[in-house]
Amino acid sequence: MIYKVDRLGIDLKMPANPSPNSAAAVQELMGGKFGEMSTLMNYTMQSFNFRGRNKVRPFYDLIASIAGEEYGHIELVSYTINALLTGTTNRSDDNTATRLENGRDARNTYHFIATGQTAVVGDSMGNPWTGANVFSSGNLQLDLLHNFFLECGARANKLRVYDMVDDPVAKRTVGYLLVRGGLHVVAYAKAIEKLSNVPITKLLPIPKIENEKYPEAKEFMDMGLHRTLYTYSQDDFQEVAKIWTGHHPDDGSELVVEKGMPEGFPAPDFEDEPQLGAPEIDPDMLADLAKKMFS
Ligand code: MN
Ligand code: MN
Repeated sequence: MIYKVDRLGIDLKMPANPSPNSAAAVQELMGGKFGEMSTLMNYTMQSFNFRGRNKVRPFYDLIASIAGEEYGHIELVSYTINALLTGTTNRSDDNTATRLENGRDARNTYHFIATGQTAVVGDSMGNPWTGANVFSSGNLQLDLLHNFFLECGARANKLRVYDMVDDPVAKRTVGYLLVRGGLHVVAYAKAIEKLSNVPITKLLPIPKIENEKYPEAKEFMDMGLHRTLYTYSQDDFQEVAKIWTGHHPDDGSELVVEKGMPEGFPAPDFEDEPQLGAPEIDPDMLADLAKKMFS
């Protein structure tokens, strides 16, 4: 079962340069083949489908706790897309003013037609995310190799999206995801090493650019977020510490397992967008309704 907390992984600010086309690029990190929907659903399904877990408990605990973290990543990416879309259209209450004109030439018109200028579960080209992106073979070594590859591919996509978006808020989200995804790369590499004795961490980083070269990632590395693995559970999944132990291959720092999840930050509350043509809500009527329902 899952326990929900109404907080975000980072303190997300409103963007200085809201941009529908930057929002469209960030969609790849949401619903692309290598996006957060894919990492979330791969690890979630692999943990649900895990047979014989008691014999290899640390590997089950690893996949299950990372699955918990990925939920927070789809949340953060959604909020980042929503932030990039906020303030990009005309909020006038004149419904003849072509208020969504800016959406017409945006790369992803779903953001303006299908949603209230918010994220969709799709990629940067508007393709919906699909369960065909989930690999759950029932063979632990194969699944771990797949997850290692998935996190490396995700890292490559993040680096490219970082290079496409100019807004500091979007770059900061990508910086955070690079650090956490970087930890997942190392975690799956170490899991494969435990199973096979093949020194796979020597391949890292893939692509060959260190996270610390990106100031937005360095900020989170300085907080130790590249070496701290959270269980995303109060009491369960603690055998992950049998895999997440030793030293980080990049900087030699000590690897740490923390119970639960990071404290997080309050999520921003975005202004509503009036262009759907909904009638103005009468505050007196709302107060009257509330009195009837809750008194
Ligand atoms: Mn992630
Ligand atoms: Mn990940």
